[in-house]
Amino acid sequence: MNLPLITKENVAGKKVLVRAPFDVPLNGSRVADDTRLKSALPTLKYLLEGGASLVLIGKNGRPEGKRVKKLSLSVPAKHLAKILGRKVKFVPDVVGPRAEKAKKALKPGEILVLENLRFYPKEKERDLEFAKNIATGMDIYVFEDFPNAMNDHAGTTGVAEFLPTFAGEQFAKEIKKLSETMDNPKTPFVAVSGGAKISTKIEILKSLIARVDVLILGGGMANTMLVAEGYDIGKSLYEEEYVDAAEEIAKLAYDNAVELLLPDDVVVAGKPGPRAKTKVKAIDEVNKGEMIVDIGPKSIAKFSEPLKFAGTIFWNGPMGISEYKPSAGGTEGIAHIISESKAISVIGGGDTVASLGDDVKFDFVSTGGGATLEYIAGETLPTIKMFEKK
Ligand code: ADP
Ligand code: MG
Repeated sequence: MNLPLITKENVAGKKVLVRAPFDVPLNGSRVADDTRLKSALPTLKYLLEGGASLVLIGKNGRPEGKRVKKLSLSVPAKHLAKILGRKVKFVPDVVGPRAEKAKKALKPGEILVLENLRFYPKEKERDLEFAKNIATGMDIYVFEDFPNAMNDHAGTTGVAEFLPTFAGEQFAKEIKKLSETMDNPKTPFVAVSGGAKISTKIEILKSLIARVDVLILGGGMANTMLVAEGYDIGKSLYEEEYVDAAEEIAKLAYDNAVELLLPDDVVVAGKPGPRAKTKVKAIDEVNKGEMIVDIGPKSIAKFSEPLKFAGTIFWNGPMGISEYKPSAGGTEGIAHIISESKAISVIGGGDTVASLGDDVKFDFVSTGGGATLEYIAGETLPTIKMFEKK
């Protein structure tokens, strides 16, 4: 579908509510990676040039309905002021008298950031009274938070029930890119999935199996698959309560004639870390005291075979503990192979994107992780449905 975009002519003197991508990794009281914030700059500048005043809402992290000081949006708001080169006001509330007063006082060209929506349980409950309060005093709503596009919450789809709603440029671009490459993927379609836990991606993996020709699994999530296959993985991270689900995934792949690839060899360490001592081991040689921290060279070579001949590649999730140099080789290896392949390559995920060096190139690097996965697995995102309903 064509998402409705806002035009400059329509925003002069208007108060525009923008759901913005404030979900950024932090390093203490600093923004560690501002890729997402930067992706929203064109929309913000465009609206400001048009003479609008902006009220920005969003969430960061998972404060689970409580005020968590270090997750205050004052931190990304300050960073935004810097990269936008403009003053940004901040109120440590989303609703209530202080927020109301600040919204009312806002003049054309001014920007106000409200507090982390997830400090309020009503956000995830999609409380429409809460959404209505957020929308009060605003003229237009622009959704520009693709990384949270899979969330059906008060401050994503709820506010759209009270205001004329438009798609932000970046959100529309992500959807367009993903639909161009993924709705009719050039075959063979190879998906690579990694990351820490299988539990967070299990449903998506099932849907992915219906769409891909080859599914490559690495990282911590592969450990649970390996346990399901009967391997002893020492003290590696895995999820006991998901071993049955892992077996189901293997069976589903078999029934759908999807080639499922798991690591044959792994990098192990006593303890992961920036100076960890590592060893390469065949998957049936892992000892009790060892932890799998990465995939090994044989696994990289095995995974490279289908990647070389792929028509389309989608990748989400590091192959190992990529934050630490001694366990980043597998992720870097896979990044290079995908970068060099002729396939159309799409990559998504906060940690995956953070692990990339400057020497790799992909057709599309999405700012989303979960949202990208859901889209690729064939789900209709609630933030797309909200436009269909209008
Ligand atoms: P993304 O943010 O790209 O979607 P995830 O958040 O799902 O990726 O997963 C990234 C995390 O997975 C990283 O913190 C990484 O350290 C962890 N991880 C990957 N492999 C392993 C492993 N073998 N053991 C423990 N953690 C792992
Ligand atoms: Mg992550």
